[in-house]
Amino acid sequence: MKYENLLKENPTLKKISEAKEIAWVNERYLPFDMTNAVCQLIVSDEDIDSAAKRLERFAAFLKKEFPETQSTNGLIESDIIEIPNMKSALEKEYNCSITGKLFMKKDSHLAIAGSIKARGGIYEVLKHAEDLALKESIILENDSYEKFADSKMKDFLSQYTVQVGSTGNLGLSIGIMSAAIGFKVKVHMSADAKQWKKDLLRSRGAEVIEYTEDYSKAVAEGRRLSDLDEKSYFVDDEKSVNLFLGYAVAAKRLKAQLDEMNISVDKDHPLIVYLPTGVGGAPGGVSYGLKRIFKDNVHCFFVEPVQCPSVLLGIETQLFENANVKDFGLTGKTEADGLACASPSSFVTRIMTNLLSGDFTVEDRKLFDYLRLLYSTENEQIEPSSCAAFIGPVNLLKEDSTLEYCKKQNLNEDRLKNATHIVWATGGKMVPEDIRKQYLDTYL
Ligand SMILES: *Cc1c(COP(=O)(O)O)cnc(C)c1O
Repeated sequence: MKYENLLKENPTLKKISEAKEIAWVNERYLPFDMTNAVCQLIVSDEDIDSAAKRLERFAAFLKKEFPETQSTNGLIESDIIEIPNMKSALEKEYNCSITGKLFMKKDSHLAIAGSIKARGGIYEVLKHAEDLALKESIILENDSYEKFADSKMKDFLSQYTVQVGSTGNLGLSIGIMSAAIGFKVKVHMSADAKQWKKDLLRSRGAEVIEYTEDYSKAVAEGRRLSDLDEKSYFVDDEKSVNLFLGYAVAAKRLKAQLDEMNISVDKDHPLIVYLPTGVGGAPGGVSYGLKRIFKDNVHCFFVEPVQCPSVLLGIETQLFENANVKDFGLTGKTEADGLACASPSSFVTRIMTNLLSGDFTVEDRKLFDYLRLLYSTENEQIEPSSCAAFIGPVNLLKEDSTLEYCKKQNLNEDRLKNATHIVWATGGKMVPEDIRKQYLDTYL
């Protein structure tokens, strides 16, 4: 093993390398004000606002091209629901107490792509289309972007190719949107990718290239092939700032939803968010956006499979994108296909180093237990990757490390009673009926 010595010095790393569940607390976590100046230089509030405005410009197009977005006026946004029955069931089943209220943010049901990738992935494709069209003056910023639904625009964009490497859901979001707007699109899919996702993509007109290797390989090959073609654009999940911005837009919209439900977030009403994590882009972007709004009153925890905690390793070791779970004796293999990224994002591991509160790892078998429990208590079905989030609220006050974190952050009993816990459901709507049944019947 490459990092034998590191493991000897660091008991946390040792435990991770044994694929044991861990509640990791980030020792580099800093008060928001101490990070603000540097963060603003990298991704500023204006950058996020301008991404939100871009999505508003495209709303007219989305509404026309994807009628399912009519109810949200062309915005791709999900509901947030309280899940009190699931909360009681978790408390009973896992002998824990989830102090405060438990909510689920249903990105699992986002329009068009049925996963959190409908935020970042679609944003990046739209931005690329806009850049090309503005450059050739085929559109002006003040035009109605309904124009993007015209055949003339599609003919123009059809000279260009978009490529992406994916374990599945990013491919779906990039593939569906690229094909809809007129691009040629090639999706490089890792061995983890589910067959139904490949089939669905092909049915929408995307070219799917299959790899027998893992996600890092699919990305590297996709990037290489795209670089050979000057009319090809590569959506680079391992370092894209545009993806990140698309995800970050979620935060202000969540704030509006919380306001509408009369849920305050302040010192006495903490917000605690649990996000399933693969390469880090989606949970990183969402968390970053939330930190910019709620600062020290939001606590963001990532969740990763025990065999694939790449973001945790990247941050803990400060090896960033050079961390690979395989170098720590792990397989990288997991039933959570959306989280199967052996190396993390260079960008996210850096920008989240002082903002992430912690990271829980979870065993695959629990994903299916959570999936069944959610279905039986709330009649909601989400995909296994998504279910990872539930270990967060279960273990927050159960593990010594996170209990200590709560103490240190002055999250005492009184405050936690007012806490809003959000599990971020990251995918599920597109799962075909027969596979849903299989998931309900999977016991590991
Ligand atoms: C992609 C994905 C994630 C994590 O996103 P990353 O950007 O890879 O960290 C989580 N859940 C699901 C269902 C996903 O598809």
